[in-house]
Amino acid sequence: MDVRAQIVMAFHLDKCIGCHTCSLACKNIWSDRRGTEYMWWNNVETRPGVGYPRGWEDQERYRGGGVAEGKNVNLKSMGKGRTLASLFFQPNLPRIEDYYEPFDYDYGNLAGAPEGDDQPVARALSQVSGQPIEHIQGSANWDDDLGGSRLYAASDPNLPDAAIVESYATMFMQYLPRICNHCLHPSCVASCPSRALYKRGEDGVVLVDQNTCRGWRFCISACPYKKVYFNWKSGKAEKCIFCYPRVETGQVNACAQSCVGRIRFVGVLLYDADGVAEALLQKDADLVEATRALILDPKDREVQKAAAKNGVSEQWIEAAIGSPVYALVKEFRLALPLHPEFRTMPMTYYIPSLSPVLSTMGDTYRLMEKGTISLPETLRVPVDYLARLLAGGNRGIVEEVMRKLYAVRVFMRGENLGQPADPAILQQAGLDREGALRLYRLFTIAGFNERNVIPPQQREGQTPELRKQEAGFGILQRVKSERNDLTRRGGKDD
Ligand code: SF4
Ligand code: SF4
Repeated sequence: MDVRAQIVMAFHLDKCIGCHTCSLACKNIWSDRRGTEYMWWNNVETRPGVGYPRGWEDQERYRGGGVAEGKNVNLKSMGKGRTLASLFFQPNLPRIEDYYEPFDYDYGNLAGAPEGDDQPVARALSQVSGQPIEHIQGSANWDDDLGGSRLYAASDPNLPDAAIVESYATMFMQYLPRICNHCLHPSCVASCPSRALYKRGEDGVVLVDQNTCRGWRFCISACPYKKVYFNWKSGKAEKCIFCYPRVETGQVNACAQSCVGRIRFVGVLLYDADGVAEALLQKDADLVEATRALILDPKDREVQKAAAKNGVSEQWIEAAIGSPVYALVKEFRLALPLHPEFRTMPMTYYIPSLSPVLSTMGDTYRLMEKGTISLPETLRVPVDYLARLLAGGNRGIVEEVMRKLYAVRVFMRGENLGQPADPAILQQAGLDREGALRLYRLFTIAGFNERNVIPPQQREGQTPELRKQEAGFGILQRVKSERNDLTRRGGKDD
């Protein structure tokens, strides 16, 4: 057992309101420079839609990620002849039109235009060429809120039937925030001929060494999530750095800190690195279970010993025990990886949206309690859609998540209305009262320090006493004592 630690973000899709505050927080800190104008290390897509860059999920076109061949997982974008042929030309890169030509407005003209008969205007100017743009053709969220759904939503490759978005009766919408997934098997790292990309041993964050990068752009082709970008000014690759300067000082990522919907959870997972290669060889539909199997119980003494032997500090093990992400991914089996079939083993996880139940079904709560209809029939967001997005097409995995989310909803509805729900509804979903209360708390009223459990970085020369004074340790203690109070308060805030 080769136990490693990974810092991970989980997203609760039901709670995202598509405000893009996260994207702006990220942009203001990290990509507000010349050459980075079109980059959105954090972006929020409207789904169904084509995303950013357009059609990024189409690996026939972009050839990102890995493919299982015999006993190996090989990069789709590379191979002996293919690598040499694409040394000076990457045929599968997104074009600037697939992102968008970044622009700003000529505000100076509003104040500085010479006197004339016309009202001065602020024309759009390309931030690449400086030339006016006559017709703006796109942006990072051009299809926001289903603008132009026939054009965009119907092209979503995850839709089981494109006709769903043709009718108001069946149309649906949700948001999908995306950052780099800091994958366990990052194809960007594997593809780099200069070895400029690397995965940090201490926390699993994937970074680009700017001094080593030679701008080959193999990483951009190889990443199936298109989360590496080319800085056209510096000629180097850039990507989300998981806000490591913040995380190293016990602070949470800018996107999570600013998240208005409080949809993000940040915490540590311990995993068995020995099993990654084997897990990636599984069939698409089995990849979620294979990934879950790699995630280890941080309370297990053997796991703790193996982690300590690998240099994982006591505080990181403590953080893994208090990790909300561990609870959501492994304990409750609710959060799922984005497109596991791309075979990079992404380390961001999504709780699929339960979505409004279809009002045409009548009082669905009662009908379901009576067993007249089953849950998947009532969901506005099709289960098949979510399965293609988050479970390698495995409907069963998504249905299990839906049953749990629904059970918590019905249970808490009963508690709050003083009409306790049938206990069987929790049992059938594999939950108990305490679990339901914990989930309810995490999803609704959990404070900042419960949603984000970040251990301080272990630095050279730091004594254990000094480390304990770091903010993160205090947070862990507080989370523990708050959790102990949970049952007493019945899941409600004081
Ligand atoms: S999502 Fe991030 S870590 Fe994974 S392959 Fe893409 S750039 Fe690399
Ligand atoms: S800030 Fe939060 S709620 Fe707003 S778009 Fe980003 S992830 Fe969604």
